[in-house]
Amino acid sequence: MKCFNHEDREAVATCQHCGKALCKACASKYTPCLCDECFQAIQQEAHAQRVAAAEGHRQSRLERLSFSSGDLILNCVLGAILTILAAVANADNEYYSLLELAPLAPLFFCFPAGWRLVSRWVRAGEEQMGIVHTYDESVGSLIGGLLFKLAAGWFLGIPAFLFQVYKVLRARKEVKTAEAELMRVKQ
Ligand SMILES: [Zn+2]
Ligand SMILES: [Zn+2]
Repeated sequence: MKCFNHEDREAVATCQHCGKALCKACASKYTPCLCDECFQAIQQEAHAQRVAAAEGHRQSRLERLSFSSGDLILNCVLGAILTILAAVANADNEYYSLLELAPLAPLFFCFPAGWRLVSRWVRAGEEQMGIVHTYDESVGSLIGGLLFKLAAGWFLGIPAFLFQVYKVLRARKEVKTAEAELMRVKQ
């Protein structure tokens, strides 16, 4: 049998992919033994897979960023409403002026971040323990849960809010990294 590429040369091996006969020179081009066409096809396939994987990765980072940003925006809106309500409620405070109460504003502004973070923790914990809420729950446990979230909103609000800002920044950076990786893989 003659080599597929060289009619004057005796074949010594076959392409592992398509079985084409290859001479010594052609057979030793690639490891494992492949013809040019199969080698290129396999390279292209691998490239397409890498691009698809990088594309998927970028997509998941974009989704995470939009989730984190949406969460942050919602907390900012809720925090702003709460801060305004607190200011209105204290507008005719006879002991303190609004200016004196201003240092408390960040606590009000960040309150929803802490409240929502702890609510999420509680929900996740309950799901893990298989606790299902029913309508005939005692008033005591409902008030207990409410007080717990109030305290969490107050004490964890600022760190929770800052952590959220950090998460958005980190998500943005991850999107940039994923985009750079996609560009690199596409080349
Ligand atoms: Zn082949
Ligand atoms: Zn050959």
